[in-house]
Amino acid sequence: MRWENLTDESEHGRAADTALFGADAVTTRTFDTPEFQGITFHEVRARSVLNRVPGASRMPFEWTVNPYRGCTHACVYCFARKTHSYLDLDTGIGFDSQIVVKINAPEVLRRQLGSRRWQGDHVAMGTNVDCYQRAEGRYRLMPGIISALTDHANPFSILTKGTLILRDLDLLVRAAEVTDVGVSVSVGFLDAELWRTVEPGTPAPERRLDVVRAFGEHGIGCGVLMAPVIPFLSDHPAQLRATVRAIAAAGATSVTPLVLHLRPGAREWFMHWLGQHHPHLVRRYERLYAEGAYAPKWYQRRITRQVHELAQEYGIGPARAGLARRIRPAEPAPAPTGEEPVQLSLL
Ligand code: SF4
Repeated sequence: MRWENLTDESEHGRAADTALFGADAVTTRTFDTPEFQGITFHEVRARSVLNRVPGASRMPFEWTVNPYRGCTHACVYCFARKTHSYLDLDTGIGFDSQIVVKINAPEVLRRQLGSRRWQGDHVAMGTNVDCYQRAEGRYRLMPGIISALTDHANPFSILTKGTLILRDLDLLVRAAEVTDVGVSVSVGFLDAELWRTVEPGTPAPERRLDVVRAFGEHGIGCGVLMAPVIPFLSDHPAQLRATVRAIAAAGATSVTPLVLHLRPGAREWFMHWLGQHHPHLVRRYERLYAEGAYAPKWYQRRITRQVHELAQEYGIGPARAGLARRIRPAEPAPAPTGEEPVQLSLL
């Protein structure tokens, strides 16, 4: 494993200059509990946890914190799979089961936020892999990270599929009293069979909507990133309607659709899955994604329009966002344009 490549910039797929970890800083651990069976954790001590997003990115944030690499949520389409190859780790099963944990992330972040060079910019989390994946239940890094951001009144946002975020609800409420906090949950579809096969390690979509509901019950606005919309599997008008209706019923303050994109690393793994589970769709996918990682713009626009119309019909929008008491939803992802690079991992 190439630990020297576990750097700020390699998180975003660029060449690395500054190593964050020394080889002697790695401890490998496994746990006997059923939920961690087959998972190997690589505990590392990071030198830095604030990652700068490459200048070319169109994302509405410049800095990210990612306490984990790899994700046991194991979404087949996850674009972050590619980043495991920078560590000489497998981007398929390896991404799902070899998890890098920056065990000192809270302390390092606190130090970096206190640096005179730090300008107090917005920090986005959950943009590469899920910070509330199952490992967080054991390592509990997020409470320390949220507390450090709160103590420095530093604005931040979290995007997650993990219901574990509810554990930290009180901390997030406290943070929102001193700074700008955004929370978004990712729910691309409701189909139970599709969920079990394509997002096998995640909480069920309904449980994620319970998170939205719980935040709402605390008077806290929570947006939904409707991602990914999977062509031919979750894009039927009736499916889109059911999903948006459920998102609205959960009290989401916004819904942002994002069509599946298949960048290298994710593409091979997804197409392998497609061949096993939906072989009749392989040719259609090859045609739809013939130009590269993104579905054609006409397709993306169609989905976006349909979802926006449904959102309007079900009353999701600015009026409802105005009801949010303290925490506003995370900045929505920009409309997909097909331009590289997109940083979200379709959480
Ligand atoms: S898409 Fe998000 S939740 Fe799914 S495996 Fe990737 S990082 Fe984890």
